[in-house]
Amino acid sequence: MNWNVILIRYGELSLKGRNQKFFEDRLVQNIREKLYDFEGVRVTREHGRLFVELGDQPASPIMNVLKDIFGIVSFSPAIRIPSQIDEIEQIAGHVFASYPNVSTFKVESRRADKRFPIRTGEINPRVGKYILDHFPHAKVDVHHPDLEIKIEVRIKGTYIYGKETAGAGGLPVGTSGKVLLLLSGGIDSPVAGYLALKRGVELHAIHFHSHPFTSERAKQKVLDLSQTLTHFGGKIRLYVVPFTNVQTEIRKHCYENYSITIMRRMMLRISEQVAQKYDLKALITGESLGQVASQTLESLQAINEVTSMPILRPLISMDKTDIMKIAKNIDTYETSILPYEDCCTVFVPEQPKTKPVIKVCNREEKKLDMEGLVTEAVEGIEVIDFRFDK
Ligand code: ATP
Ligand code: MG
Repeated sequence: MNWNVILIRYGELSLKGRNQKFFEDRLVQNIREKLYDFEGVRVTREHGRLFVELGDQPASPIMNVLKDIFGIVSFSPAIRIPSQIDEIEQIAGHVFASYPNVSTFKVESRRADKRFPIRTGEINPRVGKYILDHFPHAKVDVHHPDLEIKIEVRIKGTYIYGKETAGAGGLPVGTSGKVLLLLSGGIDSPVAGYLALKRGVELHAIHFHSHPFTSERAKQKVLDLSQTLTHFGGKIRLYVVPFTNVQTEIRKHCYENYSITIMRRMMLRISEQVAQKYDLKALITGESLGQVASQTLESLQAINEVTSMPILRPLISMDKTDIMKIAKNIDTYETSILPYEDCCTVFVPEQPKTKPVIKVCNREEKKLDMEGLVTEAVEGIEVIDFRFDK
Protein backbone atom coordinates (compact mmCIF):
# COMPACT_ATOMS: atom_id res chain seq x y z
CA MET A 1 0.00 0.00 0.00
CA ASN A 2 1.39 3.42 -0.90
CA TRP A 3 0.59 5.33 2.25
CA ASN A 4 1.54 8.99 1.92
CA VAL A 5 0.88 10.25 5.42
CA ILE A 6 0.75 8.96 9.00
CA LEU A 7 -1.95 10.31 11.24
CA ILE A 8 -1.03 10.65 14.90
CA ARG A 9 -3.35 10.78 17.93
CA TYR A 10 -1.97 12.08 21.18
CA GLY A 11 -2.74 13.54 24.54
CA GLU A 12 -3.88 12.52 27.94
CA LEU A 13 -7.49 13.34 28.64
CA SER A 14 -6.66 15.73 31.43
CA LEU A 15 -4.71 18.13 29.24
CA LYS A 16 -6.45 21.36 28.41
CA GLY A 17 -5.82 24.93 27.35
CA ARG A 18 -2.29 26.24 27.57
CA ASN A 19 -0.98 22.91 28.78
CA GLN A 20 -2.27 21.29 25.67
CA LYS A 21 -0.39 23.76 23.48
CA PHE A 22 2.86 23.27 25.39
CA PHE A 23 2.46 19.51 25.21
CA GLU A 24 1.70 19.59 21.49
CA ASP A 25 4.63 21.91 20.64
CA ARG A 26 7.04 19.67 22.46
CA LEU A 27 5.67 16.52 20.89
CA VAL A 28 6.04 18.01 17.40
CA GLN A 29 9.62 19.01 18.21
CA ASN A 30 10.42 15.50 19.51
CA ILE A 31 8.94 13.83 16.45
CA ARG A 32 10.85 16.17 14.13
CA GLU A 33 14.11 15.47 15.92
CA LYS A 34 13.66 11.73 15.69
CA LEU A 35 12.68 11.81 12.03
CA TYR A 36 15.46 14.23 11.13
CA ASP A 37 17.39 11.66 9.12
CA PHE A 38 14.43 10.72 6.91
CA GLU A 39 14.76 12.94 3.89
CA GLY A 40 11.70 14.73 2.61
CA VAL A 41 9.52 13.86 5.61
CA ARG A 42 7.49 16.68 7.19
CA VAL A 43 5.54 16.90 10.42
CA THR A 44 2.43 19.10 10.26
CA ARG A 45 -0.60 19.70 12.45
CA GLU A 46 -4.24 20.48 12.00
CA HIS A 47 -6.90 20.76 14.69
CA GLY A 48 -5.76 18.36 17.38
CA ARG A 49 -4.10 15.96 14.98
CA LEU A 50 -0.52 15.57 13.88
CA PHE A 51 0.52 14.28 10.50
CA VAL A 52 3.77 12.89 9.23
CA GLU A 53 3.86 13.58 5.51
CA LEU A 54 5.97 10.82 4.06
CA GLY A 55 7.14 12.27 0.77
CA ASP A 56 8.84 9.32 -0.95
CA GLN A 57 9.62 7.40 2.24
CA PRO A 58 7.99 4.06 3.02
CA ALA A 59 5.75 4.09 6.10
CA SER A 60 7.02 1.16 8.11
CA PRO A 61 10.51 2.38 9.20
CA ILE A 62 8.90 5.62 10.27
CA MET A 63 6.17 3.84 12.20
CA ASN A 64 8.94 1.93 13.90
CA VAL A 65 10.37 5.20 15.17
CA LEU A 66 6.98 6.63 16.14
CA LYS A 67 6.10 3.67 18.35
CA ASP A 68 8.78 4.68 20.87
CA ILE A 69 7.91 8.37 21.13
CA PHE A 70 6.19 9.15 24.41
CA GLY A 71 3.01 11.20 24.22
CA ILE A 72 1.67 9.39 21.15
CA VAL A 73 -1.48 7.42 21.92
CA SER A 74 -1.86 5.76 18.54
CA PHE A 75 -1.18 6.27 14.85
CA SER A 76 -2.40 5.04 11.49
CA PRO A 77 -0.80 5.06 8.08
CA ALA A 78 -3.20 6.81 5.72
CA ILE A 79 -3.65 7.99 2.20
CA ARG A 80 -4.47 11.60 1.55
CA ILE A 81 -6.12 12.44 -1.73
CA PRO A 82 -8.05 15.38 -3.13
CA SER A 83 -11.64 15.27 -1.88
CA GLN A 84 -13.37 13.64 -4.86
CA ILE A 85 -15.93 10.97 -4.18
CA ASP A 86 -14.89 8.62 -7.03
CA GLU A 87 -11.34 8.64 -5.87
CA ILE A 88 -12.39 8.21 -2.25
CA GLU A 89 -14.29 5.04 -3.19
CA GLN A 90 -11.36 3.62 -5.09
CA ILE A 91 -8.77 4.29 -2.41
CA ALA A 92 -11.08 2.94 0.30
CA GLY A 93 -11.16 -0.23 -1.80
CA HIS A 94 -7.35 -0.34 -1.88
CA VAL A 95 -7.21 0.15 1.88
CA PHE A 96 -9.68 -2.70 2.38
CA ALA A 97 -7.65 -4.97 0.09
CA SER A 98 -4.37 -4.11 1.80
CA TYR A 99 -5.36 -5.94 4.98
CA PRO A 100 -5.20 -9.69 4.43
CA ASN A 101 -7.58 -11.89 6.47
CA VAL A 102 -10.16 -9.16 6.64
CA SER A 103 -13.65 -9.81 5.39
CA THR A 104 -16.13 -7.86 7.49
CA PHE A 105 -15.86 -4.10 7.46
CA LYS A 106 -17.58 -0.88 8.29
CA VAL A 107 -17.05 2.57 6.80
CA GLU A 108 -16.96 5.53 9.10
CA SER A 109 -16.59 9.02 7.76
CA ARG A 110 -16.28 12.54 9.12
CA ARG A 111 -16.75 15.72 7.17
CA ALA A 112 -14.68 18.49 8.76
CA ASP A 113 -14.65 20.40 5.46
CA LYS A 114 -18.26 21.44 4.97
CA ARG A 115 -17.51 22.54 1.41
CA PHE A 116 -17.51 18.89 0.44
CA PRO A 117 -20.96 18.40 -1.12
CA ILE A 118 -21.76 14.89 0.12
CA ARG A 119 -22.91 14.40 3.70
CA THR A 120 -21.45 11.65 5.90
CA GLY A 121 -24.81 9.85 5.90
CA GLU A 122 -24.31 9.36 2.17
CA ILE A 123 -20.55 8.77 2.03
CA ASN A 124 -20.71 5.63 4.19
CA PRO A 125 -23.22 3.67 2.09
CA ARG A 126 -21.63 4.79 -1.17
CA VAL A 127 -18.16 3.64 -0.22
CA GLY A 128 -19.59 0.50 1.40
CA LYS A 129 -21.38 -0.40 -1.80
CA TYR A 130 -18.23 0.17 -3.85
CA ILE A 131 -16.30 -2.29 -1.67
CA LEU A 132 -19.10 -4.88 -1.73
CA ASP A 133 -19.27 -4.59 -5.52
CA HIS A 134 -15.51 -5.02 -6.01
CA PHE A 135 -14.60 -7.62 -3.40
CA PRO A 136 -16.80 -10.70 -3.37
CA HIS A 137 -15.59 -11.84 0.06
CA ALA A 138 -16.41 -8.49 1.69
CA LYS A 139 -19.30 -8.24 4.14
CA VAL A 140 -20.58 -5.34 6.17
CA ASP A 141 -20.69 -5.71 9.95
CA VAL A 142 -21.46 -2.50 11.80
CA HIS A 143 -21.02 -3.97 15.28
CA HIS A 144 -17.83 -6.06 15.23
CA PRO A 145 -16.09 -5.51 11.91
CA ASP A 146 -12.61 -6.92 11.24
CA LEU A 147 -11.74 -3.53 9.83
CA GLU A 148 -13.10 -0.03 10.18
CA ILE A 149 -12.31 2.07 7.16
CA LYS A 150 -12.08 5.66 8.26
CA ILE A 151 -12.61 8.57 5.95
CA GLU A 152 -11.90 12.09 7.12
CA VAL A 153 -12.73 14.90 4.76
CA ARG A 154 -10.53 17.79 5.82
CA ILE A 155 -9.47 21.11 4.34
CA LYS A 156 -6.20 19.76 2.95
CA GLY A 157 -7.84 16.73 1.40
CA THR A 158 -9.43 13.47 2.42
CA TYR A 159 -7.62 10.98 4.65
CA ILE A 160 -8.45 7.32 4.30
CA TYR A 161 -7.08 4.72 6.64
CA GLY A 162 -7.66 1.42 8.40
CA LYS A 163 -6.03 0.01 11.49
CA GLU A 164 -4.52 1.92 14.38
CA THR A 165 -1.21 0.98 16.00
CA ALA A 166 -0.88 1.67 19.72
CA GLY A 167 1.73 4.27 20.61
CA ALA A 168 3.96 4.34 23.68
CA GLY A 169 1.57 6.56 25.69
CA GLY A 170 2.98 8.70 28.50
CA LEU A 171 3.96 12.35 28.13
CA PRO A 172 6.30 13.95 25.60
CA VAL A 173 9.89 13.96 26.79
CA GLY A 174 10.79 17.44 28.01
CA THR A 175 7.35 18.46 29.31
CA SER A 176 8.06 17.47 32.91
CA GLY A 177 11.45 19.12 33.47
CA LYS A 178 14.97 17.72 33.67
CA VAL A 179 16.15 14.97 36.01
CA LEU A 180 19.35 13.14 36.84
CA LEU A 181 19.37 9.33 36.61
CA LEU A 182 21.98 7.42 38.60
CA LEU A 183 22.94 4.97 35.90
CA SER A 184 24.95 1.87 36.75
CA GLY A 185 25.69 -0.89 34.29
CA GLY A 186 23.04 -3.09 35.91
CA ILE A 187 19.58 -4.19 34.83
CA ASP A 188 17.53 -1.85 37.00
CA SER A 189 18.66 1.71 36.49
CA PRO A 190 18.17 1.82 32.68
CA VAL A 191 14.61 0.59 33.26
CA ALA A 192 14.10 3.31 35.88
CA GLY A 193 15.34 5.82 33.29
CA TYR A 194 12.93 4.51 30.71
CA LEU A 195 9.96 4.78 33.09
CA ALA A 196 10.97 8.32 34.05
CA LEU A 197 11.19 9.25 30.37
CA LYS A 198 7.70 7.91 29.92
CA ARG A 199 6.41 10.55 32.31
CA GLY A 200 7.90 13.28 30.19
CA VAL A 201 11.23 14.13 31.81
CA GLU A 202 14.35 15.10 29.93
CA LEU A 203 17.01 12.67 31.05
CA HIS A 204 20.53 13.42 32.21
CA ALA A 205 22.49 10.48 33.61
CA ILE A 206 25.38 10.20 36.02
CA HIS A 207 27.72 7.25 36.31
CA PHE A 208 30.35 6.61 38.96
CA HIS A 209 33.40 4.94 37.57
CA SER A 210 36.28 3.47 39.57
CA HIS A 211 39.09 3.06 37.13
CA PRO A 212 41.35 0.99 37.38
CA PHE A 213 39.29 -1.16 39.78
CA THR A 214 36.64 -1.22 37.10
CA SER A 215 37.57 -1.63 33.48
CA GLU A 216 37.01 0.48 30.39
CA ARG A 217 34.53 -2.15 29.28
CA ALA A 218 32.41 -1.51 32.36
CA LYS A 219 32.28 2.14 31.34
CA GLN A 220 31.53 1.23 27.72
CA LYS A 221 28.46 -0.67 28.94
CA VAL A 222 27.10 2.52 30.43
CA LEU A 223 27.82 4.44 27.23
CA ASP A 224 25.94 1.77 25.28
CA LEU A 225 23.00 1.88 27.69
CA SER A 226 22.85 5.66 27.35
CA GLN A 227 22.79 5.31 23.58
CA THR A 228 19.95 2.77 23.82
CA LEU A 229 17.94 5.12 26.04
CA THR A 230 18.08 7.81 23.33
CA HIS A 231 15.61 5.60 21.50
CA PHE A 232 13.03 6.90 23.94
CA GLY A 233 14.66 10.10 25.13
CA GLY A 234 16.05 11.64 21.95
CA LYS A 235 19.03 13.34 23.56
CA ILE A 236 20.78 12.17 26.71
CA ARG A 237 23.68 13.80 28.52
CA LEU A 238 25.92 11.56 30.61
CA TYR A 239 28.24 12.71 33.40
CA VAL A 240 31.00 10.21 34.15
CA VAL A 241 32.40 10.78 37.63
CA PRO A 242 35.86 9.58 38.70
CA PHE A 243 34.97 7.71 41.88
CA THR A 244 38.15 5.79 42.64
CA ASN A 245 39.44 8.15 45.26
CA VAL A 246 36.15 8.25 47.12
CA GLN A 247 36.07 4.47 47.25
CA THR A 248 39.67 4.02 48.36
CA GLU A 249 39.23 6.65 51.06
CA ILE A 250 36.07 4.96 52.35
CA ARG A 251 37.86 1.64 52.40
CA LYS A 252 40.86 3.08 54.16
CA HIS A 253 39.02 4.98 56.88
CA CYS A 254 35.47 3.78 57.42
CA TYR A 255 33.90 0.84 59.21
CA GLU A 256 33.73 -1.86 56.57
CA ASN A 257 30.11 -2.89 57.09
CA TYR A 258 29.05 0.69 56.41
CA SER A 259 31.07 1.10 53.23
CA ILE A 260 28.16 0.50 50.85
CA THR A 261 25.87 2.90 52.66
CA ILE A 262 28.55 5.57 52.79
CA MET A 263 29.42 5.02 49.15
CA ARG A 264 25.74 5.52 48.23
CA ARG A 265 25.61 8.68 50.30
CA MET A 266 28.68 9.97 48.50
CA MET A 267 27.02 9.25 45.17
CA LEU A 268 24.03 11.29 46.22
CA ARG A 269 26.09 14.20 47.48
CA ILE A 270 27.96 14.37 44.19
CA SER A 271 24.74 13.90 42.19
CA GLU A 272 23.11 16.73 44.08
CA GLN A 273 25.96 19.08 43.18
CA VAL A 274 25.68 18.13 39.53
CA ALA A 275 21.90 18.55 39.64
CA GLN A 276 22.20 22.02 41.14
CA LYS A 277 24.80 23.06 38.62
CA TYR A 278 22.65 22.02 35.63
CA ASP A 279 19.19 22.82 37.02
CA LEU A 280 18.05 19.20 37.26
CA LYS A 281 15.02 18.87 39.52
CA ALA A 282 15.11 15.32 40.89
CA LEU A 283 17.32 12.27 41.19
CA ILE A 284 16.19 8.90 39.83
CA THR A 285 17.53 5.53 40.95
CA GLY A 286 16.85 1.91 40.07
CA GLU A 287 16.25 0.87 43.65
CA SER A 288 13.48 -1.57 44.47
CA LEU A 289 12.40 -2.19 48.04
CA GLY A 290 14.03 -5.21 49.62
CA GLN A 291 15.84 -6.34 46.47
CA VAL A 292 19.29 -6.27 48.07
CA ALA A 293 20.78 -5.39 51.46
CA SER A 294 21.21 -1.74 50.58
CA GLN A 295 17.57 -1.37 49.58
CA THR A 296 15.81 -1.74 52.92
CA LEU A 297 13.75 1.15 54.28
CA GLU A 298 16.51 1.83 56.82
CA SER A 299 19.07 2.02 54.03
CA LEU A 300 16.93 4.23 51.87
CA GLN A 301 16.45 6.53 54.82
CA ALA A 302 20.18 6.67 55.54
CA ILE A 303 20.84 7.40 51.86
CA ASN A 304 18.12 10.07 51.60
CA GLU A 305 19.43 11.89 54.62
CA VAL A 306 22.31 13.57 52.79
CA THR A 307 20.15 15.46 50.30
CA SER A 308 16.95 17.46 50.33
CA MET A 309 16.34 16.80 46.64
CA PRO A 310 13.46 14.53 45.66
CA ILE A 311 14.70 11.03 44.87
CA LEU A 312 12.33 9.19 42.56
CA ARG A 313 12.43 5.41 42.46
CA PRO A 314 10.18 4.22 39.64
CA LEU A 315 10.93 0.55 40.39
CA ILE A 316 10.29 0.70 44.12
CA SER A 317 7.44 -1.82 44.17
CA MET A 318 8.39 -3.94 41.19
CA ASP A 319 9.57 -7.54 41.19
CA LYS A 320 12.85 -8.36 39.51
CA THR A 321 11.13 -10.53 36.91
CA ASP A 322 8.91 -7.63 35.83
CA ILE A 323 11.90 -5.30 35.67
CA MET A 324 13.72 -7.85 33.52
CA LYS A 325 10.76 -8.06 31.18
CA ILE A 326 10.86 -4.32 30.56
CA ALA A 327 14.65 -4.41 30.17
CA LYS A 328 14.23 -7.00 27.42
CA ASN A 329 11.52 -4.97 25.71
CA ILE A 330 13.56 -1.80 25.66
CA ASP A 331 16.70 -3.63 24.54
CA THR A 332 18.90 -2.83 27.52
CA TYR A 333 18.92 -6.32 29.01
CA GLU A 334 21.60 -7.89 26.83
CA THR A 335 24.00 -5.03 27.57
CA SER A 336 23.18 -4.99 31.28
CA ILE A 337 23.99 -8.64 31.81
CA LEU A 338 27.50 -8.41 30.34
CA PRO A 339 29.72 -9.54 33.18
CA TYR A 340 31.95 -6.51 33.71
CA GLU A 341 32.31 -5.42 37.31
CA ASP A 342 30.55 -2.34 38.64
CA CYS A 343 32.08 0.05 41.16
CA CYS A 344 29.68 -1.28 43.80
CA THR A 345 30.75 -4.84 43.32
CA VAL A 346 34.49 -4.33 43.73
CA PHE A 347 34.43 -3.42 47.38
CA VAL A 348 31.54 -5.43 48.72
CA PRO A 349 31.93 -5.95 52.48
CA GLU A 350 31.35 -9.43 53.87
CA GLN A 351 28.43 -8.29 55.97
CA PRO A 352 26.88 -5.14 54.59
CA LYS A 353 24.60 -3.39 57.07
CA THR A 354 20.98 -3.97 56.21
CA LYS A 355 19.82 -1.52 58.87
CA PRO A 356 22.42 1.23 58.92
CA VAL A 357 22.14 3.78 61.71
CA ILE A 358 22.39 7.36 60.55
CA LYS A 359 24.44 8.42 63.56
CA VAL A 360 27.07 5.83 62.69
CA CYS A 361 27.16 7.00 59.06
CA ASN A 362 27.81 10.54 60.21
CA ARG A 363 30.49 9.41 62.66
CA GLU A 364 32.29 7.35 60.02
CA GLU A 365 32.10 10.12 57.45
CA LYS A 366 33.85 12.53 59.84
CA LYS A 367 36.98 10.53 59.04
CA LEU A 368 36.80 11.65 55.40
CA ASP A 369 37.75 14.93 53.79
CA MET A 370 34.18 15.23 52.57
CA GLU A 371 34.37 18.57 50.84
CA GLY A 372 37.67 17.78 49.16
CA LEU A 373 36.43 14.44 47.86
CA VAL A 374 33.16 15.80 46.52
CA THR A 375 34.81 18.79 44.85
CA GLU A 376 37.51 16.67 43.30
CA ALA A 377 34.93 14.23 41.88
CA VAL A 378 32.73 16.99 40.47
CA GLU A 379 35.69 18.75 38.90
CA GLY A 380 36.85 15.55 37.25
CA ILE A 381 33.54 14.87 35.50
CA GLU A 382 33.58 13.95 31.84
CA VAL A 383 30.43 15.03 29.96
CA ILE A 384 29.28 12.94 27.01
CA ASP A 385 26.27 13.72 24.81
CA PHE A 386 24.20 11.08 23.07
CA ARG A 387 21.66 11.62 20.35
CA PHE A 388 19.20 9.27 18.70
CA ASP A 389 20.62 7.68 15.60
CA LYS A 390 18.38 5.55 13.43
P1 ATP B 1 21.22 -1.66 38.99
O1 ATP B 1 20.72 -2.90 38.34
O2 ATP B 1 20.57 -0.42 38.51
O3 ATP B 1 22.71 -1.60 39.03
P2 ATP B 1 21.21 -2.91 41.53
O4 ATP B 1 20.07 -3.83 41.73
O5 ATP B 1 22.53 -3.45 41.16
O6 ATP B 1 20.74 -1.78 40.49
P3 ATP B 1 22.49 -1.37 43.53
O7 ATP B 1 23.80 -1.81 43.10
O8 ATP B 1 22.12 -1.42 44.98
O9 ATP B 1 21.28 -2.07 42.84
O10 ATP B 1 22.27 0.13 43.05
C1 ATP B 1 21.12 0.84 43.36
C2 ATP B 1 21.02 2.06 42.49
O11 ATP B 1 22.13 2.93 42.74
C3 ATP B 1 21.14 1.73 41.02
O12 ATP B 1 19.89 1.35 40.48
C4 ATP B 1 21.60 3.04 40.45
O13 ATP B 1 20.53 3.95 40.32
C5 ATP B 1 22.55 3.53 41.53
N1 ATP B 1 23.95 3.12 41.22
C6 ATP B 1 24.59 2.03 41.65
N2 ATP B 1 25.85 1.99 41.16
C7 ATP B 1 26.01 3.09 40.40
C8 ATP B 1 27.08 3.63 39.61
N3 ATP B 1 28.26 3.03 39.51
N4 ATP B 1 26.86 4.79 38.97
C9 ATP B 1 25.66 5.42 39.05
N5 ATP B 1 24.64 4.96 39.77
C10 ATP B 1 24.79 3.81 40.44
MG1 MG C 1 24.13 -2.51 40.29
